[in-house]
Amino acid sequence: MPPHPDPTDAVPAERPTRIADVVVVDPRDGSLTPHQDVRVEGGRITAVGATSGPAADGDVDGAGRFAVPGYTDMHAHPLNRPDPVNPLRLMLAHGITGYRQMAGSDALLARRRAGTLDLGPRTPRLLALPGDLLTPMNAGTPEAAAAEVARQAAAGADFVKAALITADVLPAAQEEAARHGIPVLGHLPAGVDVRAASKAGFRSIEHIGPGLGVVAGCSCAEEQVRDEIPRGPRIPLPPVKLPFLDRIVGRIVAKAVVNPALRTTPAALAATRHALDTFDEERARSLARQFAQDGTWNCPTLIRIKAQQLCAAPGFAADPDLRYMSPGTLTTWWRTAAKFDGAFTAEQHEIFEQLWEMQRRLTRILDEEGVGILAGTDAVGACWVVPGASLYDEFALLGEAGLSPLRILQTATSEPARFLGREATSGTVEAGKDADLTLLDADPTAAVGNLATVSGVVVRGLALSSADLAAMKAELAGRVD
Ligand SMILES: [Zn+2]
Repeated sequence: MPPHPDPTDAVPAERPTRIADVVVVDPRDGSLTPHQDVRVEGGRITAVGATSGPAADGDVDGAGRFAVPGYTDMHAHPLNRPDPVNPLRLMLAHGITGYRQMAGSDALLARRRAGTLDLGPRTPRLLALPGDLLTPMNAGTPEAAAAEVARQAAAGADFVKAALITADVLPAAQEEAARHGIPVLGHLPAGVDVRAASKAGFRSIEHIGPGLGVVAGCSCAEEQVRDEIPRGPRIPLPPVKLPFLDRIVGRIVAKAVVNPALRTTPAALAATRHALDTFDEERARSLARQFAQDGTWNCPTLIRIKAQQLCAAPGFAADPDLRYMSPGTLTTWWRTAAKFDGAFTAEQHEIFEQLWEMQRRLTRILDEEGVGILAGTDAVGACWVVPGASLYDEFALLGEAGLSPLRILQTATSEPARFLGREATSGTVEAGKDADLTLLDADPTAAVGNLATVSGVVVRGLALSSADLAAMKAELAGRVD
């Protein structure tokens, strides 16, 4: 990765800063405390208390604004890019001060161990990093899966991301991960018994499955539906070890992740139809209660699901946020949408739409039954998912699903802190916490849209004004992959 010289990188995060006369929002209960000064020094919040007066030179003027903990994108892939700095900066410019990287590698783990993974003060914090995705390539049998999990744990992985594994290897992976004190999470294998996976500690389910992962568990014909789901990876991985396999697999995966729904087979769509026709609300609620009891979280990434399954919907191509994306990426996205449009019949497109309706309904049910929910986007590599801006799309879709504005604020602030075990240093605006803040122009507990009124960010103690954020966005236009 090339170094990125930037004059503002030289601004010392240690300079004490006062955010003057701001409304402090506590995401845990939605309480608002007006006329507060938030003092920041050395990368920490040093004091929060009644204001000493209006902003002076060098202060951040908080009058009429709301301070919340910096947003977290709990499902993102910036580090899978050869050069992640532009997507990371675009995320920061939208108020994101931390992210969970959802696919890692030996090389990334080694760089983190060596302390060379930090990409400078004007990027969000890396909060969690796994090793390589668990796939049939490195986890084709229960023994291979256990060995791979042990290897990744020894390399310092924070978690193991299941991606395309078959259901039979999941228990071995989970047992081995538990021995090393790290969780398995990610994609439920096709046809897996979701209750058993949850009970065994599957820590977070991504994309509500994906596919039929959770929906199948809500069917009154669950076992039949599970049997109808085609097994084996949807991404055609090479069956034998080849030279430069890592790079080959990397390229295959990068191409396939633009829109994995393109590879949905008629058999999978038939299973989907069956699952939708046999959906049982009481089974869905009891499954959700089990997730809550087992501590199985959900990171729905509704924007990613919608952009996959409704890829040809005209709203995506008209999104003004596409201005940030590079011409090459835009060409790939337009081509992918056209391909998706032509790849399925009208009835098949309708199945995708009804599945989308069901996924939103399920998100509401998960929330109502007390399941931990995390805001995530799958940004960087996913069709129509613009890094940073897509978190606002996720907020809007969680709102459409029926979550309250406060609950949505929690999914990007206090809930990630709880999930990651970082409550001592993040998740609220309090003295002693990391100085990662997002400033909003409107009350985030009053309306979902207000969560998108970001007009300032403090990251690791470095304050960026609304003008700074606008300048970053202008500079990134057309340059993000
Ligand atoms: Zn992902």
